[in-house]
Amino acid sequence: MKLINTIVSESIAGFKEMLFPEVCVCCGCPTPNDGNMLCPFCQDSAFDPANYYGNSSCPGVVLPEGILFQYALWKYDKGGVLQRMLHLVKYGGIGRLGFEMGVLTGSALLSTKFWSGFSSYNSIVLLPVPLHPKKKRIRGYNQAELVATGVSEVTGIPLIPENIVIRQRYTTTQTGHDLQGRMKNLSEAFRVDQHESVQDKFIIIVDDVFTTGATSYALAQVLKQSGVKEMGILTVAFA
Ligand SMILES: [Zn+2]
Repeated sequence: MKLINTIVSESIAGFKEMLFPEVCVCCGCPTPNDGNMLCPFCQDSAFDPANYYGNSSCPGVVLPEGILFQYALWKYDKGGVLQRMLHLVKYGGIGRLGFEMGVLTGSALLSTKFWSGFSSYNSIVLLPVPLHPKKKRIRGYNQAELVATGVSEVTGIPLIPENIVIRQRYTTTQTGHDLQGRMKNLSEAFRVDQHESVQDKFIIIVDDVFTTGATSYALAQVLKQSGVKEMGILTVAFA
């Protein structure tokens, strides 16, 4: 009886698989049923790798003081599949995909040469760019947090507790400002509630996309004012 049950349930699973095959969210090809939304090919080769920017290795790029590296997994493809995937994570409620991209970002970080210089640091924490609580309630989640959870899964670096860095202002649209204007617009958006909880930490700011840097830089500025000396920026995509 048990054998028949097994055969029946396997047949049903097989039939379901035939009708609704698990396909890669990026290329549409069947996935190996490993629970991932991206197939192994797309994980490795669908997008161009982004460059690493650090003050020491890229003399042309000057990061604000205190930010020791800015690293992204992939180059943003305006109007392309990556943009659509990030949109799905942000607005479409596809949380698993955000987590998965976080795992890939975390693994890529671990394999970089520059990371070996930081891996021995104590007290490294991940800080997903906070969403305004009202926005988070409406959306149901914070996409940066999904990415950071994936990064944490593979690197073992913990997320900073949610109540320490707060987004206190509902920011208006950012278009039409230059970088300074955007940063000014954002400068009062963040608040650190427990300075002593961040001061001795190496904080890695995590977000889905790095575009102008205004958000991460404004957040970094607030952290610096709270006594944080060393930070990094980690994103899935770099525009
Ligand atoms: Zn694929």
